[in-house]
Amino acid sequence: MAEKNPRQAEKGEPSASFLKTLETENRQNPSLFHDASKCTRCGRCAIQCQKIQGLSPMEFEEGSHRWKYCPTLSHGPNRAFCVYCGQCALACPTGAISEKSSLQEVKNAIADSSKFVIVQTAPAVRASLGETQGMPAGSLITGKVVAALRRLKFDKVLDTDFGADLTIMEEAQELVQRIEKNENLPLITSCCPAWVKYAEHFYPSLLNNISSCKSPHQMFGAIAKSYYAKKLGISPEEIIVVSIMPCTAKKFECLRPQMQNNGLRNVDYVLTTRELGKWLSEEKIELRSLPDEFYDDLLGASSGAGAIFGATGGVMEAALRAAAEKIEGKKIESVEYSQVRGEEGIREATVQLGGKTLNLAIAHGLKNSKKLLEDIKNKKSKYHFIEIMACPGGCVGGGGQPIPTNVQIVKKRKLALYHQDAILPLRKPQENPQIISLYKEFLGEPGSKKAHELLHTTYGERKSGRI
Ligand code: SF4
Ligand code: SF4
Repeated sequence: MAEKNPRQAEKGEPSASFLKTLETENRQNPSLFHDASKCTRCGRCAIQCQKIQGLSPMEFEEGSHRWKYCPTLSHGPNRAFCVYCGQCALACPTGAISEKSSLQEVKNAIADSSKFVIVQTAPAVRASLGETQGMPAGSLITGKVVAALRRLKFDKVLDTDFGADLTIMEEAQELVQRIEKNENLPLITSCCPAWVKYAEHFYPSLLNNISSCKSPHQMFGAIAKSYYAKKLGISPEEIIVVSIMPCTAKKFECLRPQMQNNGLRNVDYVLTTRELGKWLSEEKIELRSLPDEFYDDLLGASSGAGAIFGATGGVMEAALRAAAEKIEGKKIESVEYSQVRGEEGIREATVQLGGKTLNLAIAHGLKNSKKLLEDIKNKKSKYHFIEIMACPGGCVGGGGQPIPTNVQIVKKRKLALYHQDAILPLRKPQENPQIISLYKEFLGEPGSKKAHELLHTTYGERKSGRI
């Protein structure tokens, strides 16, 4: 569908049939909510979606310039499916599109004394939550985020960066194996659920290229309800895992049937950075006035590699830190792969490992990924490893982040994560003592049978926009 000028939009009451469709959609959409009473049908959401994701799950009413379909519909008339990234919510000037809130469910779980409620925080949240209380963009407030979550009465405050370290251990193993066997290359990262959904709709022939690793917060949830539950002597059924994420697509990801073990969801609820900001202001918790506190033990330690997961190129750099030592069979002191950092929508780089040249590519924004994907489909790709993230700048620019989110702000959040990486004593996941204990006491080796049962997943071609 051709882009329309937002100024062409007409005001007027939405039709009854539109409102009926919207009501069904709002009920069924796992990630986003569209409030028709706030929508002026300006079309900025549609333009944002087309510009960043190259998708159009909407269309104009026949013979007029009014939006007939809401942008967050699971699919539009041209089979253009929504991937729940939430970029349209960032573009909406009236707040008509927002995340579908899970706040009440989380409050209920905390109030339920039979539940043990664990919270984990994504890498990008610590560099953006401060903006919800007027702090400058890129304020790195990890310790204050931990302190705030304790005051909200979570039983344990833990870190998705630990899950990111674990993801890297598994994904690096997968990369090394695929290179050795020259099989299913290029390997494509799997931690962005919006990208995964896009592939299931539009590139089903490439699903074997996508890493089988669950995303970091899902890996974390699987370990919380197995290893961690055992360590604490708590029944996994009593545990509720809440993820604080920069992302609306993670709400959808939680409901994927593959994201469970032994009949329990790996993650029960996702709150966006914005939802946490709102909750803190309801409770009058001021981040500035809080002391810096530390994550709780066992699943709370992380390396710098886990920290940079939140920025475009970060997942690839983190994986290279682990894969390089595996391939070279020795300790490698230099950990920074500056060639994969940057802002361009598609970047490419090469690294020399084990006497081999590895060709790498990074794309952020699904529209940018299309060229790379078409080349793989047409057997013209030269790459060994590709990172794809749906949001501009990676998760720091995610659809659940504070508004405004723009290029300059995303850059500042990203710099904060690279700063965190640089000052951490540990930079590689394989040096994280809690990761070492987890493998020694429970999982065995990366890629083991147990690791596969808990930490890996499958994908399938999608015909409908639903879960
Ligand atoms: S959530 Fe993402 S894919 Fe869906 S309409 Fe909004 S911008 Fe487009
Ligand atoms: S890039 Fe990050 S924030 Fe955006 S949809 Fe993917 S996982 Fe979510």
